[in-house]
Amino acid sequence: MTKIGVLALQGAFAEHIAILKTLGVDTTEVRLPEELDGIDGLIIPGGESTTITKLMLSYELADKIKKQALDGLPIMGTCAGMIMLAQKVDGTNHLSTGIMDIAVKRNAFGRQVDSFELDLDIPAIGDEPYHAIFIRAPKIEHAGPNVDILVKLSDDTIVAAKEGNLIALAFHPELTADNRLHKYFLDIVNKR
Ligand code: GLN
Repeated sequence: MTKIGVLALQGAFAEHIAILKTLGVDTTEVRLPEELDGIDGLIIPGGESTTITKLMLSYELADKIKKQALDGLPIMGTCAGMIMLAQKVDGTNHLSTGIMDIAVKRNAFGRQVDSFELDLDIPAIGDEPYHAIFIRAPKIEHAGPNVDILVKLSDDTIVAAKEGNLIALAFHPELTADNRLHKYFLDIVNKR
C-alpha cells in the first residue's frame, strides 16, 4: 500500500493526514530522520516556516529530505511547506532543503489581506474552479526553467508550481473538501 509521510514538526499536519486517509493511502507522521524510510511521498504542511526550519535542522531532517528528493521522492509543500522547498526565501539562500528552483517571498500579500479565499483555474487538475484558502501566504517570485507554473493569479503572481517530483502550493489544500490536489500528488507518487 502506498505510504505517505507528513512532516509533523509544527503546523497543519493532522488535516493533511485526514485527507490522505479518505484517499485510501497509508500515512505516517514524520519527526525523526528514520521515519522518512520506506515512504513513497512526503507532504510538508503549512505552519510557521521559521519554526519548521529550526526544528528540521535540529532534528537533522533537512539533509535527508534533500537527498531523498534528489533520488526522486515526490514531495508536496503547502504554504510554509512551499517555503521549505524553495532555494531562495526573501532574497537569501534558504537554510532548509533548497531543493526546488524557485525564489519565494514570505507573507507576500500584506497585512490587510493576511488571509483570503479565491477561485483558481488549475488546468492540471481539471476544468472546475478550485477554491483556495490563503493564510499569510507566500508567493513565487521567480521560477527556474524546469519549473512548470500550475497557477498564476490575474496579476501574474505565481502561487503554485511543479518541478519534476516536487509540488509547491502557496495555499492550503488540506483546509477544503476538494481533494483534487492531493489526488494529483498521489498520481505523481503512483507513477514513480
Ligand atoms: N507566513 C507563514 C510563514 O512565513 C506561512 C503561513 C502558512 O503556512 N499558512 O511561515
